[in-house]
Amino acid sequence: MHYDYVIVGAGFAGSVLAERLATQLDKRILLIDKRSHIGGNAFDCLNEDGILIHQYGPHIFHTNSPEVYTYLSQFTQWRPYEHRVLASVDGQLLPIPINLDTVNKLYGYSFTSEQLMAYFDSVGEPVADIQTAEDVVVSQVGRDLYEKFFRGYTRKQWGVDPSQLDKMVTARIPTRINQDDRYFTDQFQCMPLHGYTKMFEKMVDHPNIQLLLGTDFKEINQQLSFDELIYTGPIDEYFDCCYGKLPYRSLRFDHQTLEVANYQPVAVVNYPNEHAYTRITEYKKLTGQEHTKTSITFEYPQDEGDPYYPIPRPENAALYRQYKQLADGQASVHFVGRLGTYRYYNMDQVVAQALTLFKKLAGIDSLQEAI
Ligand code: FAD
Ligand code: UDP
Repeated sequence: MHYDYVIVGAGFAGSVLAERLATQLDKRILLIDKRSHIGGNAFDCLNEDGILIHQYGPHIFHTNSPEVYTYLSQFTQWRPYEHRVLASVDGQLLPIPINLDTVNKLYGYSFTSEQLMAYFDSVGEPVADIQTAEDVVVSQVGRDLYEKFFRGYTRKQWGVDPSQLDKMVTARIPTRINQDDRYFTDQFQCMPLHGYTKMFEKMVDHPNIQLLLGTDFKEINQQLSFDELIYTGPIDEYFDCCYGKLPYRSLRFDHQTLEVANYQPVAVVNYPNEHAYTRITEYKKLTGQEHTKTSITFEYPQDEGDPYYPIPRPENAALYRQYKQLADGQASVHFVGRLGTYRYYNMDQVVAQALTLFKKLAGIDSLQEAI
């Protein structure tokens, strides 16, 4: 069998491209994943108690892109959901991102927004050239809040001090002077009504798409006949790590089901300072599912294991650029996705990146036309 495209990885990047190329350009696709399921890291499933859990940690959909939202809406209905996170600090559960209530409750103040702004101005440490994940926070909220909410969490999560990480890591988390306690402020915030996996099933359900699960591309590469390759696995692995391994941070997920209906006040509670895990997620609070039991997941960061997070540091970006140069020399191989382009991307960014590649492959001008 000859394929127009072989696509490695059935996560967002691979599945969006398979769907677009099959339905819009009538291409014949082989979609391969070494895992036994589609959906990549966004995969969710019912556990043995019938509770919908996210196998690879909590996935909350949010985007400011009408195109991404409209595109995905072809494959799922949505459940409105605004994410709220609490952080366990000094014996209290406090809103993160840091906002007016966080500071007032932590220190026992009763600041107004104006007073909080003046407070941040007084405790923030001026940094002439903000470069690191530490600079971002310390310059905005000062050292005490940085140490209570960010330093420990970041060291656990990434295995290095925030001063060694790119500013984009902590710049993901805003600082607020109002009482807005939502984790995200994006225009579209919702969860797929029946879960991510059901959405992926609809995406790849097309006669032109052949799915091959539980198969490593490396093992069957030589036997395949195809015109073009779309690769969404780790870019360094594709090139046999010829310049050395790109570092990734991994996680161990400890999934548990408890004999109680409710465990914690919000879907995610962060533990910046105590415990070896970073956060606990309670899925029913994300999905709205009703059940007499509840399922939770502890996330333990580690070096070894599946590559979940590209690590944003200057030396890693430099190593990635070497691989990117090799990739640019391969006209019929396209690298896309969080691992394929070594970017700390959210789901919506990966969908946008995949749609942009589709636009290029299809020779069309606008993203609107691509959806
Ligand atoms: P992946 O989902 O990683 O898919 C790549 C696939 O390629 C994998 O299934 C892998 O098995 C397969 N593969 C790799 N190599 C091979 C090979 N040689 N042969 C065959 N198959 C191969 N984003 C959000 O927007 N909101 C969130 O709340 C959020 N939470 C997250 C929480 C965690 C713990 C993690 C790790 C990520 C989170 N993300 C979140 C990010 C989100 O998971 C990614 O943006 C998205 O899933 C990336 O899609 P992808 O297709 O690029 O990669
Ligand atoms: N972070 C932190 N304390 C928190 C939440 C986040 O220090 O309570 C830092 C940490 O470095 C984390 C980064 O901000 O890795 C980005 O957080 P986000 O919640 O976006 O991480 P993700 O969901 O991608 O794991």
